[in-house]
Amino acid sequence: MEKRELLYEGKAKKVYATGDPELLIVQYKDDATAFNGKKKGSIAGKGIINNRMSNRLMEKLEQTGIPTHYVRELSERETLVKKVRIVPLEVIVRNVSAGSFAKRYGVEEGIVFSAPTIEFSYKNDALDDPLICLPHIYALGLATREEMETIKEYAYGVNRFLKDFWASCGVTLVDFKLEFGRLPEGSIILADEISPDTSRLWDTATGEKLDKDRFRRDLGGVEEAYAEIMSRLEAADRG
Ligand code: C5P
Repeated sequence: MEKRELLYEGKAKKVYATGDPELLIVQYKDDATAFNGKKKGSIAGKGIINNRMSNRLMEKLEQTGIPTHYVRELSERETLVKKVRIVPLEVIVRNVSAGSFAKRYGVEEGIVFSAPTIEFSYKNDALDDPLICLPHIYALGLATREEMETIKEYAYGVNRFLKDFWASCGVTLVDFKLEFGRLPEGSIILADEISPDTSRLWDTATGEKLDKDRFRRDLGGVEEAYAEIMSRLEAADRG
C-alpha cells in the first residue's frame, strides 16, 4: 500500500494518506508525552511495541465481534487502518481506582470496583480534555444517543475481553482509554490504539506498574516495563 502525504502528526503517531481514500497508514513514534504535552520524552522502541500490541489486541477484539479500524500490519511501526471521522471523546473504563479517579475523589489507588465504570472526556487540548456527561455530549452534538449506546456496549465488551486476556498473562487491567470513529456509512468502530500508553497494567503478583505511569511518574525502568508487557502478550499467544 503506497504511503502518500502526511495528514496529521499527533503526540505518539503520524497519519498518512494512501492511494485508497478509505484507508490510512498510521506510523507509531517513540515520542512520549504526559499531562497534555507538558511533560515530553522518548521511550526507545515504544512505537514498535504499541503498534504490534494494538494490532494483536484489535485482531482478538474483532473475533469477539467488536469492529475496529485495524486492516493489516505493514511494518514494525506502520499499520493500515480504515479512515474514520473520529468521535471527539476519550472513553475511559476503570476496574480499579487509579490516576485521575483516585485524585478526584481523594481515595487511594488499588480499590477494586464491584463493577466497571465508564466516563467520557471531551477531546480538546486547549481545554485539557474536560470530563463530559451524556447530556452535554448531546447538547454539543458530539455524538447521538444511539451512537453513545453503541460506544458504551463496545467499551464494556472491550473491557470484558481485555480483563480476562490480561488476567491470563498475570496482569491486572486497571483502566484504559478508547476512541471511536464513524465509517463513511455512519457505523461506529473502535479506532486509535490499545497499548501501555493508553492502559494501566499492573503485575497481579507484585503490583508492579507495566505501563506509561512509569514515564509519567518518573519511576524508571520504562523501556523494560514495555518490553515485559509485550513479552507477556506474546507468551499468551504462543499458548
Ligand atoms: O489519568 P486517568 O486516570 O484519567 O487515565 C485513565 C486511563 O486512560 C489510563 O489508562 C490512561 O493511560 C488513559 N488515558 C489516555 N489518554 C489520556 C488520558 C487518559 O490514554 N489523554
